[in-house]
Amino acid sequence: MEITRNGSQASSLGGPENFTGHARRDPIHTSAAPSRLAAGYVTFDPGARTTWHTHPVGQLLIITAGAGRVGTWGGAVEEVKAGDVVWFAPEEKHWHGAGPDTGMTHIAVTEMEDGSAVDWLEPVTDDQFLGR
Ligand code: MN
Repeated sequence: MEITRNGSQASSLGGPENFTGHARRDPIHTSAAPSRLAAGYVTFDPGARTTWHTHPVGQLLIITAGAGRVGTWGGAVEEVKAGDVVWFAPEEKHWHGAGPDTGMTHIAVTEMEDGSAVDWLEPVTDDQFLGR
């Protein structure tokens, strides 16, 4: 058993290569092999979002605070709120973020494959973020 105490892991800012706007990452847990599990909070300020990206074996999001948006390539922009749960299938191109005027926090649960949990792609444009 391993207990990670609250306050023992440093926060970090999402870099401009992977995020538009201000996003803070707060790690929850990364397991040692043979587990492939990684989980962390991401808190997005209004207007902030990830770039487009994929996950090799999918990703689970649990919205824990606020209201935000998620989008898939070729799909509609969906509004999500605290308590909603989102599953992205393996290799499904997508983004996640805040709303235009509201912040959003989610827990992201991701499994690694060959040491990678995400493949980052191009930024989400304002038109894509606003669904127009
Ligand atoms: Mn994702």
